[in-house]
Amino acid sequence: MGKLGNPQETIHLLQKHDFHFRKKWGQNFLIDPHVLDKIVEAAEVGKEDFVLEIGPGIGTMTQYLCEWAGQVLAVEIDKNLIPILEETLKEYDNVEILQGDILKQDIRQIVENYKEGRSVKVVANLPYYITTPIIMRLLESRIPLANITVMVQKEVAERMKAQPGTKEYGALSLAIQYYARPYLAANVPPNCFIPRPGVGSAVIRLDCLDKPPVEVQDESLLFCLIHASFNQRRKTLQNGLANSSELPFTREEIGRAIQNTGLPADIRGEKLGLKEFAALADELKKERDGKQYE
Ligand code: SAM
Repeated sequence: MGKLGNPQETIHLLQKHDFHFRKKWGQNFLIDPHVLDKIVEAAEVGKEDFVLEIGPGIGTMTQYLCEWAGQVLAVEIDKNLIPILEETLKEYDNVEILQGDILKQDIRQIVENYKEGRSVKVVANLPYYITTPIIMRLLESRIPLANITVMVQKEVAERMKAQPGTKEYGALSLAIQYYARPYLAANVPPNCFIPRPGVGSAVIRLDCLDKPPVEVQDESLLFCLIHASFNQRRKTLQNGLANSSELPFTREEIGRAIQNTGLPADIRGEKLGLKEFAALADELKKERDGKQYE
């Protein structure tokens, strides 16, 4: 089996195995060697790394990863792809294929079993229907990962790295930036895939932080606040938070907390950075703790 990464090899292999694309699993396979080089380069994969690849497809990127990494584990949901992967990866002795749904795996256990003292990286051309749940699960699990380098929908990449006051900025930007530093590695047009997706794509690398960039006393309150603020994006922060069924605070308590944080009364959530959200969460925690002792 030669090296994949061009349209002829891919089509030939798919025909040989009578493979039919499953849209529901976001199957758009990469057919551009430059993009494949770019992803592996952006991830800075080396022999000292264990790489978890999510959704290897026919193994195109997996071949590149095997060349560069110490050990690779590829988790693929589609049973029909397993015989193809066994063929395309048979020359490599540093790869294992696991058939299953990545969202149902105990990733911490997988990493423990395979890393053997290596640094851990995640690399994937992600199925777009579950991009955010996959990335958030990886980040929230706090498994020690060096970085996560993923192909995602272009708009999602822009939202991940957006700064306050921009139209792309939202709950996803804050959630990502709480755990990682995002770096846009490449924009990738639809003609680099077979079949072509209906949207543009981008490769984003998330450098995982050892600790969050802000300190906050109650992390779940911080994320409740963030979600409530962006659920009602057009409202002022005070109205948005007061209307939220997720938050147990009165309008007055919220108003007081906003004031104590040093923010203008009519500010909108989209203007706040992580630091301000964390300060506001600490003020609201004071309100809640005060109430408990009344
Ligand atoms: N890595 C290949 C490439 O770049 O050519 C394929 C990428 S394709 C965008 C996404 C892959 O993820 C498909 O092979 C699909 O079957 C697989 N996939 C979809 N949902 C999955 C899940 N929940 N767990 C594991 N793999 C999944």
